[in-house]
Amino acid sequence: MPQRHMQDEVYEQSINDAPGFWSAQADRLHWHRKPDRAIQRSTKTLKSGVTHDHWSWFPGGEISTTYNCVDRHVRNGNGGNTAIIWDSPVTGSKETYTYSQLLHEVETLAAVLREEGVSKGHVVLIYMPMIPAALFAMLAIARIGAIHAVVFGGFSPASLAQRMEASRPKAVMTASCGIEGNKDPLGYKQLIEEAIHASSFKPPKTVIWQRDQLRWDPVVKEDGQRNWQRLVKSARNRGLKAEAVPVKSADGLYIIYTSGTTGLPKGVVREAGGHAVGLNLSIRYLFGVHGPGDVMFTASDIGWVVGHSYIVYAPLFAGATTVLFEGKPIGTPDASTFWRIVEEHKVTTMFTAPTALRAIRRDDGDNDFFVERGGRGRLKTLRALFLAGERSEPSIVQMYQKLLTDYCARDAAVIDNWWSSESGSPISGLALSAAAVRGQVQGPRPLPIKPGSAGKAMPGFDVRVVDDDGREVNRGSMGNIVMAIPLAPTAFTTLWEDEERFYRGYLKRFNGKWIDTGDAGMVDKDGYISIMSRSDDIINVAAHRFSTGAIEQAVTSHPDIAEAAVVGIPDALKGHLPFAFVTLSSHHHQHPAVPDDRLFKEVQILVRAQIGAIAALGGMIQGKGMIPKTRSGKTLRRVLRELLENAARGDFERGVQVPSTIEDADVVNVAREKIEEYFKARGKNIHKSIESQSKL
Ligand code: AMP
Repeated sequence: MPQRHMQDEVYEQSINDAPGFWSAQADRLHWHRKPDRAIQRSTKTLKSGVTHDHWSWFPGGEISTTYNCVDRHVRNGNGGNTAIIWDSPVTGSKETYTYSQLLHEVETLAAVLREEGVSKGHVVLIYMPMIPAALFAMLAIARIGAIHAVVFGGFSPASLAQRMEASRPKAVMTASCGIEGNKDPLGYKQLIEEAIHASSFKPPKTVIWQRDQLRWDPVVKEDGQRNWQRLVKSARNRGLKAEAVPVKSADGLYIIYTSGTTGLPKGVVREAGGHAVGLNLSIRYLFGVHGPGDVMFTASDIGWVVGHSYIVYAPLFAGATTVLFEGKPIGTPDASTFWRIVEEHKVTTMFTAPTALRAIRRDDGDNDFFVERGGRGRLKTLRALFLAGERSEPSIVQMYQKLLTDYCARDAAVIDNWWSSESGSPISGLALSAAAVRGQVQGPRPLPIKPGSAGKAMPGFDVRVVDDDGREVNRGSMGNIVMAIPLAPTAFTTLWEDEERFYRGYLKRFNGKWIDTGDAGMVDKDGYISIMSRSDDIINVAAHRFSTGAIEQAVTSHPDIAEAAVVGIPDALKGHLPFAFVTLSSHHHQHPAVPDDRLFKEVQILVRAQIGAIAALGGMIQGKGMIPKTRSGKTLRRVLRELLENAARGDFERGVQVPSTIEDADVVNVAREKIEEYFKARGKNIHKSIESQSKL
């Protein structure tokens, strides 16, 4: 029998002896008061009378996240190490902050907030671009025991108002403008004022970071508006500083609203104690980031959970350097930016979403930019490329794995990891540094990657695959991915002021037995987890369940296809047929919406071979800039499905529900035009059968 890998042993211990495992991890942090124990389990009774299992991490403990992320390193003599490198191609700026400088900024800003009436337990909403001040704000809020709610900068006033009403912030911290890619600066004044106008709850203060690119003018004092830099200057002149205020383990550190591919946003609460312990382990164990000398570049946004955890908190818990990037994978100025950053800042660990790599592949099909830098030996520092946010198709994983093997550090790996706002840190992945669990840096090589799989379960996440009745399915079979209670410490235990919705949204489906992740997929015989799609992205073809993700994978295995979104189109005979929207990988994208016969046939062959004849496509439309996405890179299949269903009924103009989180609303119009062109070219009866079905 082959020897078991350390990741498997660690995992088993975390599940079989959760108290012992997590107590040891808690000891690695500074507590203002040590917890009485690692975990306490109880039963919660809701107003409706429903009862369900509940758990609480590190009861009795008191902790300050900011102290652990900043003060601790300065006190340990590491104040001179670099904490933050800000790299902003959109403004042509770069700045560096050591841990000592960061402490100074944060303790002063925390004092300012206190003077402005914010104290322990209050919520402060952050609506900021990717600038250092945004990180100072998060850490300053946490420093005084308040709770931040970061809303992605650039969200519409309506979605901002929704989050204001839900979180009732004492203050809003914002900037005069955001800069999206190579577009003109986007003024925040109007957006914030409109949101406050629309919200029934009016935040008393708005603290504004003035940027030179576009100022907030005028700052209306009577409306509670304040100039951030002026407040800080005045506090500094008076020598004001705020000490770190500890909070109870179960107190909220932040609220994050989940991305809206479905319904109204949910306020996920992150608890201070569990977050600190879990994240401090994950950054070392999974990401192999241990401290000074390690440089993490997470190309995401502080508005998303990936940004909260791996731009801000985790690298700082470790005492490492984090790169804060204000730019885009392409267009700022081109598809070489990521690799320029790796070279220039000697990045050891990178994290991004596959959608960013696809964008780069579209602009730099042969990876010339990567190869050019790599060929000069400039990318040797890079040890790993972590991917999350959506499914990574094997082709993109394989392509980057080859590039990493050829040009980066020895054994460098592409690591797909699966998680959510709810989980706070990866639920699955492959530990780059399994020995970190024992405080060691050197250890065994990571488990081998399997492209298409998001790795194995991370400590504390008891992942299972069940059928619709909640019964576990055999290894290798598709099903609903759920988790047993308790979840690992970084994960939520409730929703912000909405216990009922927590139960309804996550526990009710399986009668309180499992927590529903909303994702579908499988676990193979070796324990590797594959996430194929959201459960609602499953399509039913002649009573066979197919994941749109799996079909997309088959479609994108065609070399001429850069990207695909597959949705179900109703069919009188089979219930549904898969229908593909594709973007070609050629530089000059063919114009017609109807692909040429050769391409369609070749794709069909791939789908038949990889999925089965029964999953053969009902149709395919090609187009550039046609696949709608949320700002966090998730394909909005529902929007395409609705457009398609309307078109099948001859109703091309009918409105569809577009979530406020959409990245570019114009894409929906492109999709609409392409669909209309397709139906007109193919004859309106092409999906006649659909019509009768969809009217049922
Ligand atoms: P969010 O809470 O906005 O971060 O979205 C979480 C969802 O993103 C998950 O429930 C999955 O549907 C999807 N997701 C995240 N990471 C992955 C991954 N590595 N593979 C497949 N899907 C992913």
